[in-house]
Amino acid sequence: MTLPISPLYIPNTPGAYLLLLRLEKAVQLDIARWRGQELASGLYVYAGSANGPGGLRARIGRHLKKKKRLHWHIDHITGPAVEIHIQYEPGAQECALLTDYKKFGDFEIPLKGFGASDCKNCASHFIRLSSVIPSPPSANWSLARVG
Ligand SMILES: [Zn+2]
Repeated sequence: MTLPISPLYIPNTPGAYLLLLRLEKAVQLDIARWRGQELASGLYVYAGSANGPGGLRARIGRHLKKKKRLHWHIDHITGPAVEIHIQYEPGAQECALLTDYKKFGDFEIPLKGFGASDCKNCASHFIRLSSVIPSPPSANWSLARVG
């Protein structure tokens, strides 16, 4: 049995990360832009960057909290997710991390602009996996939260 890693193992330096989120049930969105829309159950990947105090450790640690003040789009998804896996790279950039990841499988963009309000390059920083991503990329993931 794999135990979730502690955020203490995540470096407190700036960088970018990916969250792999599993939704067991559909999520009804309560965000102005997508109100009433539903996210189907399945696997989703979100790309983000952490350049504030506490770096990757603080930002990812926040994502892993089940309950929090809803601030970012992704906060509406991390709560209901039943499983969160993470990977991160100090000094990296979120768009590059997601672009690299997308080479390994088929995906779709469920919500245009989600998590990418200030990005001029990407249609979204949030994708839905339409096929299972094979290893070796999956080997980069660490289980970070269950339930
Ligand atoms: Zn981007």
